[in-house]
Order: sequence, then structure tokens, then C-alpha cells
Amino acid sequence: MALLQISEPGQSTAPHQHRLAAGIDLGTTNSLIATVRSGIAETLPDLDKQHLLPSIVHYSHTAPPIVGYVAKKRANQDPLNTIASVKRFMGRGIADIKTTGSRLPYHFIEQAQGMPLIHTVAGDKSPVQVSADILSVLKQRAEMALQGDLIGVVITVPAYFDDAQRQATKDAATIAGLKVLRLLNEPTAAAVAYGLDKEARGIYAIYDLGGGTFDISILRLQRGVFEVMATAGDSALGGDDIDQAIAQWLMQQANIADDATHHHIRELLDIARTAKETLTTEAEITLKIPLDTGNCVNITLTTNQLNELIDPLIQKTLLACRRALRDARITPEQINEVVMVGGSTRMPRVREKIGEFFHCQPHVDIDPDKVVAIGAAIQADILVGNKPDDDLLLLDVIPLSLGIETMGGLVEKIIQRNTTIPVSKAQDFTTFKDGQTAMAVHVLQGERELVTHCRSLARFELRGIPPMVAGAARIRVTFQVDADGLLGVSAQEEISGVHSEITVKPSYGLSDNQIEQMLKDSLSHAHEDVAIRTLREQQVEADRVINALRAALKTDGKVLLKQHEFVAISEALDGLLQVKGGQDAQAIKQAIEELDKVTQEFAARRMDASIRRAMKGQKVENFMENN
Ligand code: ADP
Ligand code: MG
Repeated sequence: MALLQISEPGQSTAPHQHRLAAGIDLGTTNSLIATVRSGIAETLPDLDKQHLLPSIVHYSHTAPPIVGYVAKKRANQDPLNTIASVKRFMGRGIADIKTTGSRLPYHFIEQAQGMPLIHTVAGDKSPVQVSADILSVLKQRAEMALQGDLIGVVITVPAYFDDAQRQATKDAATIAGLKVLRLLNEPTAAAVAYGLDKEARGIYAIYDLGGGTFDISILRLQRGVFEVMATAGDSALGGDDIDQAIAQWLMQQANIADDATHHHIRELLDIARTAKETLTTEAEITLKIPLDTGNCVNITLTTNQLNELIDPLIQKTLLACRRALRDARITPEQINEVVMVGGSTRMPRVREKIGEFFHCQPHVDIDPDKVVAIGAAIQADILVGNKPDDDLLLLDVIPLSLGIETMGGLVEKIIQRNTTIPVSKAQDFTTFKDGQTAMAVHVLQGERELVTHCRSLARFELRGIPPMVAGAARIRVTFQVDADGLLGVSAQEEISGVHSEITVKPSYGLSDNQIEQMLKDSLSHAHEDVAIRTLREQQVEADRVINALRAALKTDGKVLLKQHEFVAISEALDGLLQVKGGQDAQAIKQAIEELDKVTQEFAARRMDASIRRAMKGQKVENFMENN
């Protein structure tokens, strides 16, 4: 039970119950949990006073899973049953994992659909289960410290996480018995931690270099509303790569062969990491490097040497920064403030280079490890209603456009990329054929014009559309992306009200590289795409005209047309049929116009005939059936 708070005399008449909420940074390398107590957001330590919980889970035959520092120690002896960096696998398929996780020793079990399982002695574990085990430990930690059950939590995710990855994170929380108030983008949480939301306005860059991932986000604050203008990053760039670079350099210096044992390399990586962290405050460090022979050799690593090793990695992050600025259509000078997030931003060289790039001194006052969890805690506190006056609104953006398939294999974008969420957008569509009673809705993600070049997210059908002539039905398709970035699509026929909907939970998501590739492709193929769209549109129009004409000829051709008229129409129809399958959009357009001219008289006679039939007291329904 939560303790009741009693307000100071004169401040409030009604005692107000403080509702227990927490913010969780579920990191690739480390996780944390934070909460707001007496108006101050702070991370919660374990019994050993450690705030960070390494995101590592060790599974064994007998005992329940072990999470954190103890599990980390097992990694060397029992690598196959010690799962680290599981966040990389969240919401991903085996193909994605093979490209990003090739260095990992785990035994993956491929599944027909969705995320692969990781084989351990305690059974096959899904990435969601492993994350749930981490979350359970954090939940326990908070409930012990706060002496009560958590009402809800805010969990942070990288800005780049797509639908599947966000859903997987939510699923992990559910398994751990946590109620997710909201998923929050990590950079947005960092901005909140620094109280940037209290400023009047501004544009901020959040630079997050963690253990295994890099994210850059450009945020804009306006009229009390936070908006993520753009995001970019690299899901395979972080402190681990710095450790690798140092370890490789050490191997060269000590003449250690490339085929050193796994254990030996692990040892060198640990030394590299310690060296790197020490050089945050020291100018140089002398390291004792174990050799294959069992002997050791002393090697000195200086700050200058370290800088040389990491500069290429920092350059890579700056490339992503440029991309984000370009997407946001701003220059580095327009950034008011820069916030540093992630353990790797402790490195003086990183701070120096980022300061140079953005022409300002980055914010580093809040511990870069804790800043995300602290922002999440502040947000959670507001969401459970502990600060009723505060109406902080956080907005994020959609990384790739969302749309549906239309005739001709084309994609109609309904929500453009970089639109802020939550968002709801609707567009009207219609039927292609007379009497069409069902419509297939195919939901896609991507920037290209053709379905084959975009990513398929989901398919569903709208059935029970009343039969009407082609083009008469009004089908409203609504796309809704909620505050967590999850997509819902619904379709409704406006006249009859028939309705169908789907929540999109794709089996696995896109990697950052794939998103980047899709964006690059859309730029490099822009001309080609416009040409093919024009062609497909003409082909669809041709099909529509042909269908309508054939139906009309079948019912009225014999009665209303003379032989030579029938021949002329047939010839024009043949002309269109001949060019329709080709590549010449202009030729198809001309053939349609030609056919239109030849059939004008026929159309007029049909109109007259139908009016006459109606006047004779014929039932309108009979007439409709003929069509
Ligand atoms: P993640 O967001 O991926 O969980 P963190 O933000 O916890 O990662 O950052 C972990 C990384 O920060 C590790 O690679 C660690 O070596 C690095 N790190 C921590 N302290 C320092 C330091 N003083 N200097 C350089 N790197 C550091
Ligand atoms: Mg992090």
C-alpha cells in the first residue's frame, strides 16, 4: 500500500494520495529504474547501492534466472546461457539479427514467424522473455524501495524503434506484470530530465552514444509542446565498438594472433573497456596485456592514441547528425542546446567534437547513464496524476511514410514520414468494379511509389459493401498512430456503415540500415518512380474504361448500335488493348481519349434509353441489375 501524504498546512485541504509510478530505461547495455519522490526524480539502487543493472540474464538448469552484475560475471564461463544485448533482437526476425548480431555466440532457433528463440539450458527463450526477466528485477527493486505496488511505468525505447520493436517491449512489460502508461522515446525523456520543457521555445539536439547503439534526435519546443523534428542513428555503433577498436590495437601492439581464443579476446575487451573509462580522467594508462604464451607485456595507452582510435567512430556519429539536421531542414547553428546521453558521452573527446559540430557546450550535468530513466520517471509521475496541473505533451515522429496499396500496385501515402505522433489521418477510396462488394486493404511502409519497393505491414478486408457502380462507394480509410507509435488502420463504407479494422503488429521490424536504405532509394529513384506511377495510373484507367465499355456493350450493344458503329468501337477498343500492356503512358492516354470519342454517341443513347425505361415505370432496381 502506498503511504498517504499529508500536505503542509495552508497548502491543500484535501490529503492527496501519491500514486507510485516509475520510469524505466531498458537499455541495450544497462537498465535503470527511477521515480519521483518529494518532487525529485532519482534512480533507485539495488542492495549493493548500484544504480545500473547490466541488461544481462544468466539461465541455468536449477535456479531462476540471474540478472545484472552477477550474470555479467558468468558471461565468460558460460557465454551460451548468458544473454546480453537482447534489446538488439527485440521485434526482429532472424535475417535482421544475422546482419547485426553476427559476433554473438548464441544458438538461435529460427521460427516460421516473428522473433527467433535463443536456446539455453533453461529452455528456449524469446527476446521478449529475456527482457521481461530484466524488467521483473527492476520492478522488484522499485517496489521494495517504495514499499508498494507500482501503478504504472513509462518505458523508454530508441526513437528508431518501429512498431514491432515497440510492441515487443510492451509485451515484455506485460509478462513482467507491469502496466505500461506509455512508451517514450529515449531522447525525449532526456530533454524532459533537463527541464527543457520549461523553456519558452527552442531547438535541441539529443546525442545518445550508449554501449551498442547511437541515436541523434532533433527536438523542437513550441508553445509548451515537444516535437521530434527528426531522428537518425546507427544501431551498431557504441561503446562496444570503441572497446573492439582498442582491443584490436592492443593485439597489434602485443603481436597477438587474430585467431586468439574467445576467452582471450573477452579478456582483452575487458581490459580495453577499463582503459577507456580510466582515460576519461587520466592522461595515460599502462596496461598489463596477457599473451598466448601465458606471459604478460606492459603497453601504455595515451589519450592521444585513444582519440586516434575513436575519431573514425565519432565521425560516423556526425554523419548521422548531419542527416538528422538535413531531415529537420536546419543548420547546426540553429540548435540552441545539446544534451549528452549514454555512458560513452563521458569521453572528453566525444564532448569536444560534438561541441565543435553544434557550436555550443553540450549539457552534461545529469549523469548520462541516468538521464533517460529520470526523464521517464518525471513523465510517469505526470501520467499517474501526481502533478495534475502539468499538461506536458510529448510528441514523436514516424520514421517512414505509411500508406495503402491502390490499383496498379501503387502506394498511396496516408501519413508522411516525420509526421508527429499521435496522429490520425483519413482518406476516401472507392471501388474499381461495378458491383464490387469487398475491398482488400494492404498497409505499407516506405517512401517509394510501388508496392514491391515498400514494406508490407498488414492486410485485411472490408466485406459487405453494398453493390454499386464502380466509383460510387465511399470507403474511408483511417490511419491512427498512438502515442506509443503503434498503428491502427480502419476502413468504413460511408453509406452502409460496414466497418473493418486491424492493429498492425508486424512479425518483425526494420533495422536502422534498412530504413536508411529505403530513404536513399526513394531519393535516387524519384524520377523513375514518377514515370512508373504515371504509367500505372494510365493502365488502371484503361482497365476501368475497358471494363465499363464491355459491360455496356453486353447489355446495350446489339440494341443501340449499328453494325459500322460497333466495328468502330471494337477497333478503338482493340487499339487500347494493344498499348495497355506496354510502357508508353502517353500512348495509353491517347488510346483512352480515342475510345472516349468513339463511344460518346453510344453513351448518350444509353442515357436516353435508361431515362425512357425509367419513365415507363420500370423499377429502378431492374435497371441497376442490368448494369
Ligand atoms: P546503453 O544505452 O546501450 O544501455 P549506456 O548508456 O549504459 O548504454 O552506456 C554504456 C557504455 O558506456 C559502455 O560501452 C561503457 O563502456 C561506456 N562508458 C561508461 N563510462 C564510460 C567512461 N567513463 N568513458 C567511456 N565510456 C564509458
Ligand atoms: Mg541508453
